[in-house]
Amino acid sequence: LDPRLFRATMGCFATGVTVITTAHNEVVHGMTANAFLSVSLEPPLVLVSIGRTAKMHSLLAPGRRYGVSKLSEEQEHLSRHFSGKPVAGLQPHFVWHAGTPLIAEALAHVVARIVDAHPAGDHTLFIGLVEYLAYREGRPLLFYRGQYGKLAAV
Ligand code: FAD
Ligand code: NAD
Repeated sequence: LDPRLFRATMGCFATGVTVITTAHNEVVHGMTANAFLSVSLEPPLVLVSIGRTAKMHSLLAPGRRYGVSKLSEEQEHLSRHFSGKPVAGLQPHFVWHAGTPLIAEALAHVVARIVDAHPAGDHTLFIGLVEYLAYREGRPLLFYRGQYGKLAAV
């Protein structure tokens, strides 16, 4: 299978953009991810798919927690920064809940404790039990066909 065809086809699914965060020995690490989904309401479960070669992969394991920050349209620079294209001089601002860092001023925050980690090809699916939720009004950052976008004004 041609990986370019795979990416181009999967890229036709418009998503929001999250930054996944975790803290280990008080050092914060963040990573941009769009392979995030809401899985179950009872119990409340979410899932993020992390590439096995990502630094984030080595930091997540059952029993640990991850934060999910759903970015607003003003936070594209943070998506770029946390996807390995560091923005010089950027000092990301974190807020903390349940001992877990989250990106300040994101549209929504979730903290989840990892209850399952399923290997899936070159990724692992980290299923988390939701322990904290919050959201605010605002407009989301979008990702579609490899490009960032915004909702059209209504
Ligand atoms: P690095 O690449 O080492 O770090 C990520 C970046 O964050 C670096 O620039 C680093 O300087 C910065 N950073 C980390 N922590 C801090 C901190 N505390 N303070 C300041 N800066 C910090 N990959 C997936 O596996 N799953 C996905 O669902 C996924 N979705 C993506 C969606 C989009 C829109 C994009 C653009 C990329 C996506 N990626 C995804 C790719 C992933 O974001 C990159 O491969 C990323 O570089 C992997 O991060 P890492 O954990 O290996 O850490
Ligand atoms: P792109 O055209 O590579 O992404 C389009 C879509 O393809 C993504 O939304 C995702 O659904 C899928 N995709 C891309 N790479 C994948 C991977 N390694 N595993 C599973 N699905 C993948 O967009 P881009 O702007 O070229 O992306 C920038 C970088 O971020 C690339 O290195 C890309 O591989 C990576 N990325 C990874 C994932 C992921 O691991 N799930 C998702 C998005 C982007």
